[in-house]
Amino acid sequence: MSIPILEVVDLHAAYGRIEVLRGVDLRVPRGAVVALLGPNGAGKSTLLKVISGQMEQTSGDIHLAGVHVAGAKPDELARLGLTTVPEGRSVFPNLSVEENLQLMSYAGVPASQVLDTAYSYFPRLHERRYQLAGTLSGGEQQMLALARALTSDPALLLLDELSMGLAPLIVDELYETVGQIAQTGVSILVVEQFARTALRIADYAAVMSGGRVVATGEPDEIGSIMADVILGGVA
Ligand code: ATP
Repeated sequence: MSIPILEVVDLHAAYGRIEVLRGVDLRVPRGAVVALLGPNGAGKSTLLKVISGQMEQTSGDIHLAGVHVAGAKPDELARLGLTTVPEGRSVFPNLSVEENLQLMSYAGVPASQVLDTAYSYFPRLHERRYQLAGTLSGGEQQMLALARALTSDPALLLLDELSMGLAPLIVDELYETVGQIAQTGVSILVVEQFARTALRIADYAAVMSGGRVVATGEPDEIGSIMADVILGGVA
């Protein structure tokens, strides 16, 4: 079996004295899309924060493509191919779409390549390239956040609640693109409230509850667990 792109083993983390991650085990096979689901407060966003180096774990291990990375800083993780699209839209509102993208070229990728990649996935961003990012619709801002993440040519993409505050049609459109990104071989770990949408593009799913992963499986199996047990039908 090949080395997974991400392996989390018995991970614990706390806010002050309150333990929020209580022994998380999770694997993302190379090239796979894994949907991380679960009720509010389960610890999904916290898990992404720890994996992406924004918060320290209290114990446990994280391996990225076989490299021990627990405690690594975000810039080291970025060099190893980890890119995060955090919850909420992380665009610079007073810069244009194109300027937001061009900022990524400072990371060493030529500006023309950054723009080509972004506009090929999101033609709508090309149409609006001179518009201030803060005046884009919520869905367009999320497209821009995703486009920026792609320009770093990630091996593993962490997506936190892409659908937050967006209309279902826009969410479907975004996920269609996420599916296309996955087809290019990028591994993706996606946290999502819209379980059904995320499960449509996922190869595997993991359900978190109470700071642990309590179920893993293929989307069909997990879909029924989500509906029957964990969310009481909210999936
Ligand atoms: P949601 O789907 O609602 O975003 P989640 O599964 O992502 O939930 P987290 O945001 O990881 O859950 O939160 C897990 C627990 O940690 C919750 O009880 C939350 O109140 C708590 N928590 C989150 N952030 C902080 C913080 N900065 N300080 C203290 N407690 C926090």
